[in-house]
Amino acid sequence: MKKYFIIFALVLAVSLGLFLTFAPAILDEERNVVVEHQAYEISDQAQQLHSSLLIGDWHADSLLWMRNLSEQYDYGHLDFPRMQQGNMALQMFTTVTKSPSGQNYERNSSDASDNITLLAMAQRWPAATWTSLAERALFQADKLYKLAARDPDNLMLIRSRIELAEFLKRRQSNPTLIGGLLGTEGSHALDGDLDNIQRLFNNGFRMMSLQHFFDNKLGGSLHGTSGEGLTQFGRDAVNKMLALGIMLDVSHSSEQVVVDTLAISNKPLIVSHTGFQGHCPSPRNISDKLMEQIAAAGGLIAVGFWDGAICGNSPATVAAAIVYGIGLVGEDHISLGSDFDGTVTTSFDGSEMAVITQALLEANLSEQQIRKVMGENMLTFLQTYLP
Ligand SMILES: [Zn+2]
Repeated sequence: MKKYFIIFALVLAVSLGLFLTFAPAILDEERNVVVEHQAYEISDQAQQLHSSLLIGDWHADSLLWMRNLSEQYDYGHLDFPRMQQGNMALQMFTTVTKSPSGQNYERNSSDASDNITLLAMAQRWPAATWTSLAERALFQADKLYKLAARDPDNLMLIRSRIELAEFLKRRQSNPTLIGGLLGTEGSHALDGDLDNIQRLFNNGFRMMSLQHFFDNKLGGSLHGTSGEGLTQFGRDAVNKMLALGIMLDVSHSSEQVVVDTLAISNKPLIVSHTGFQGHCPSPRNISDKLMEQIAAAGGLIAVGFWDGAICGNSPATVAAAIVYGIGLVGEDHISLGSDFDGTVTTSFDGSEMAVITQALLEANLSEQQIRKVMGENMLTFLQTYLP
């Protein structure tokens, strides 16, 4: 009997070991897909223009996974070498802290069990992250700090206008330097405590999205069950974020939350990864009318690269969504919001960003429009609204 118990315990230990070793990478590879394709043809004109752009992206969840971003991988969407091959300069690294099982764009209960808990355990995150969403955000931020400390020639953290100016200066002599910023994906990361806004701010967070896939203490999600607007807690949180100089991201928020936030915010909003209803009638996207209001208040709408937002994922579809956005709200209000490494399937990774420039040229956008959308609008926004 005892012998069988020992064998059983050994099998269990080995299985657990194998699970801990391989599961995170398998999951990462399975969730962050680049569709197989031949090398894209980039014209000399597109390549030349692309090399001269300052490229910025408002949304990548790369810190969620167990990759060392200083090294190049053959799966997932982003790491520093691939970003440098794609001439990416500014990257908002968003931190996912909770994702409901059975996640969908229509309706998710806030009581659904959470997928990130198991992922955190499988990736051997500190025990504090198993129960605290704020700790999950802070742990992912810490990863970025450690990368910047170990790899200063490739990554610099940007938390202020002064650091942004320094980044631009350093980039003149080091043209592949990446500027990393920190944001949250959903303010359940506050663990229901307003004081955590200051704590996250102190740890470098400069953009906070209000909701993710489910309603939270701040208000309704676009994919939740209530459709509610901002709660009193949500209003208090928004006011505190604005007072500190944290940029507000309303991706995934219910339309009523967007309306309420527009009404009380004295600064423009960002939709960090989205598409347009008028171009892609998906439950992932808020109405064009709200997009117009966000833009009219000076906001930025960052176009994603995946099917759920733009009804396709080819470079031509990304370009079509951008062209539609420019037609709707003007070239000063459109930006990039890849959602790279955000459990999406794309048709190119960070190293192949030139294919967007190519597709935008093919869509007859002017060089100036391409410059703005690819990064200059983001740069201007950061220069204006970072603390
Ligand atoms: Zn998202």
